[in-house]
Amino acid sequence: MLRLRTLVPCLALPFSLGAQTSLSRAEQAVRAAVESRGDEQVAYLERLVNIPSGSLNVTGVREVGRVIGATLDSLGFASRWVDVPAGMKRAGHLVATHSGKAGVPRILLIGHLDTVFEGANQRWVRQDSIGKGAGSSDMKGGDVIILFALKALQATGALKDMNITIVMTGDEELPGEPLGEARAALVDAAKQSDIALAFEGGSRTTATIGRRSASSWVLKVTGRQGHSSGVFRGGYGAIYETARILDEFRRELAGEENLTFNPGTIAGGSDVTYDTLTLSGAVAGKTNIIAPITWVQGDLRAMDEAQILRAKTKMREIVGRNLAQTNAAIAFGEGYPPMAVTSGGERLLSYYSGVSNALGYGALTASDPARRGAGDLSFVAPYIDGIEGLGALGSGAHSPDESVNIPALTMQTQRAALMLQRLSREKAATFRRSRKI
Ligand SMILES: [Zn+2]
Repeated sequence: MLRLRTLVPCLALPFSLGAQTSLSRAEQAVRAAVESRGDEQVAYLERLVNIPSGSLNVTGVREVGRVIGATLDSLGFASRWVDVPAGMKRAGHLVATHSGKAGVPRILLIGHLDTVFEGANQRWVRQDSIGKGAGSSDMKGGDVIILFALKALQATGALKDMNITIVMTGDEELPGEPLGEARAALVDAAKQSDIALAFEGGSRTTATIGRRSASSWVLKVTGRQGHSSGVFRGGYGAIYETARILDEFRRELAGEENLTFNPGTIAGGSDVTYDTLTLSGAVAGKTNIIAPITWVQGDLRAMDEAQILRAKTKMREIVGRNLAQTNAAIAFGEGYPPMAVTSGGERLLSYYSGVSNALGYGALTASDPARRGAGDLSFVAPYIDGIEGLGALGSGAHSPDESVNIPALTMQTQRAALMLQRLSREKAATFRRSRKI
């Protein structure tokens, strides 16, 4: 027993606060502070939802950023607006920092200001415990979870020592291009942080610590044009070659866990115009002509860089086995990097689950990485560990019927506030990745 007692604190130290199964007095105060602002939080969310801010609505996105920035400034943050190049046709991003005590973990909180739908004619409508409107859950709901967690921490004095950077992007739902430039501010913030918490759609029982990459590819196939009677002897043409390639992609790669690749468009014939930016075009041909050209565009999703590399190598190899009198080339585009499951990510989940348990909301497990689409947290994954899904519970995301579960806002805000509080009592060094990227 004695031996165990001396061993346990050393071994368990990094997990001790996260796993603490009851709330300290200071934590109880934070829980109550969140609860007491429930109505104020819903009114704030209503205000944000009623500012239309589709990704291309530069004025609206900036206005949402201005409102949130002012609130953050009142909490002791220094907020600033980061512009993106005018040619990108996006609003830019809100960045805010709160400097606390040296040695306390630097935590990056990720939200976004834009919505998929414009929000015009989509003013906030409350129906009992449900609030409807563009961005109500994705993710103005997540943004108010961040804000009201911070308000509660400030009210109890817990915010003072915390080191927090908040990045709310203005184009999460339709990122500007090039992506590297559109996410430069987020990546910069990640490089100066130890861990990241992201506030996309939440759940009662799961959070996300692994997600797949998402990128695109374009396949161009050409063949010798000729009379259809000569097909097989005089060359197979672009369409047969395209069918071969896509079928071999499926037969040779479809079984691999967490790997998917989907041809989204195809255009082939003897007279083809195709625009790879808009993924649209026109085709014409004749049944008695061997088609000389085909375009295909698709996506590729994978769990880690090694899997992406393996898939690309295999796809290039398949593309290179041309049928007679045909040629094919595949080009892979940039995209969202993968967020592999790391021990640091698992540790963040254990903290979040511990906090939830202590609040009486039950434990959480990791969600299936293949189920969640790529998001802004993916861009910081190469630098720091993170956890996703701390946002609002709702339904109908990315549809005109989007809604938020209002009572669950309190649960998510309490979880977020206590997560920040427990993480901030640890030493920053314990969260830094030991391996170099
Ligand atoms: Zn979102």
